Amino acid sequence: MDFSDLVAGQREFFNSQKSKDLAFRKQQLQQLLSLLQSNEDAMYQAIHADFGKSKFDTFSTELSFIYSEINYFIKHLHRLAKPKKVITNLPNLWGKSRIYHEPYGVCLIVGAWNYPYQLTLLPAIAAMTAGNTCIIKPSDLTPSTTALLQSLINSHFPKDYLHVVDFDVEQTTRLLQERFDKIFFTGSTRVGKIYHQAAAKHLTPITLELGGKSPVFVTASANLKVAAKRIVWGKFLNAGQTCIAPDYIYVHRSVKAEFIKHLIDYIKEFEYEEGSEHYTQIITEQHFDRLCFLINPSKIIYGGRTNRDKRYIEPTVLDEVDWNDKCMQEEIFGPIMPILEYTDLAEAFDSVRAHEKPLAAYLFSDDKREHKLFNHEISFGGGCINDTLMHISNNRLPFGGIGNSGMGNYHGKFGFETFSHAKAILQRATWGEPNIKYPPYTTSKFQWLKRLLG
Ligand code: NAD
Repeated sequence: MDFSDLVAGQREFFNSQKSKDLAFRKQQLQQLLSLLQSNEDAMYQAIHADFGKSKFDTFSTELSFIYSEINYFIKHLHRLAKPKKVITNLPNLWGKSRIYHEPYGVCLIVGAWNYPYQLTLLPAIAAMTAGNTCIIKPSDLTPSTTALLQSLINSHFPKDYLHVVDFDVEQTTRLLQERFDKIFFTGSTRVGKIYHQAAAKHLTPITLELGGKSPVFVTASANLKVAAKRIVWGKFLNAGQTCIAPDYIYVHRSVKAEFIKHLIDYIKEFEYEEGSEHYTQIITEQHFDRLCFLINPSKIIYGGRTNRDKRYIEPTVLDEVDWNDKCMQEEIFGPIMPILEYTDLAEAFDSVRAHEKPLAAYLFSDDKREHKLFNHEISFGGGCINDTLMHISNNRLPFGGIGNSGMGNYHGKFGFETFSHAKAILQRATWGEPNIKYPPYTTSKFQWLKRLLG
């Protein structure tokens, strides 16, 4: 494939102004919605073929997000795209000030494999709503979902407007040499740096949705049963292969034994055993091997069973873990749950602060003072008090990381803004202007200037 032709074709389409037309944007969003809805069964089958993800999880964690985002944008498109009037200041009196949301142009969207529909289509929907064209590159680790996306989208949308490519690393590296007007990348911090460098070459604006080690704090004031239930759900959904999954738990020493009992009870209740229809597979054998390496058998208090042929790892709880353990050296991204204990919340926060900023953090506590400390004293992308993962489901909240876990955000209006340049236009009247700003600069003009602007 000629990459330059692909990008040039999209740039030409963008320059034709077609993708900016509001009626066009709305119609494309509607078309995408009905295309996906009428191919739901094929989407369930493809993702199940890739890594055994259930229909329930695919709908609740992927398709429902996509449908509600499209419906939100169809409903709010005109309001979001409308130029915003702002107050005009004294020196520009009799003028009008407006902010125009200008689409960037040709966007490259690169997705990770763990939520292959959501991570490619949500940014694409925001980009389309903002009036851009898009080239979507899904992960090479989900061949069935990528092939399906490619056949559905490429046969229903013009190549110059919305196009899915199935590229390996070598082809993607060449594609990255092209000049894009916006890059949106979801994936690991290591690969995110490659995209950041490629973007820097052309000074292309980039959003990076990366990963990290997301902590959970369970304090002595927490409702331990609720905490255990919501942590088990958030951790083992998608077999722990969720960017905002709880990575490790810091639990207060005084409630640790009781909390662990509830944790194990819920793991059993949720039936994650081998062959279970609702427990996802590990994506590849290499990922399986990496995860097995992170398990220290001497620290297992629950789980530990594995099957490489089925790419199955039982939910595994490790106790007495500290920051020297193998599982604390990198993002786990699998069904392994290390437990660390603390006695002073401030010290637990200190150890989180001593590492890279996480994508998410969660606090289980019924103490308002602890809520305040959590909200103000540690830095992370976003999170919840008394739940896990659910902040991602409210598209009135921005979703994104900070530092090593990413830059920029999306979902709802934040996605629209991420794919738009805020263009400032001041429109002046051609009358009624005092002569103060023009030379020659007399003493009385300077005195007036000080009085007006000083
Ligand atoms: P990855 O970085 O390996 O791959 C991401 C994308 O980049 C894929 O499309 C892949 O094909 C491509 N890619 C890989 N190597 C490349 C290279 N050398 N040059 C060009 N392109 C390359 O990540 P992954 O394994 O797919 O996903 C797991 C990571 O993504 C985890 O760290 C996870 O936390 C993170 N993640 C973040 C979010 C988020 O929204 N912040 C969501 C999902 C996953």
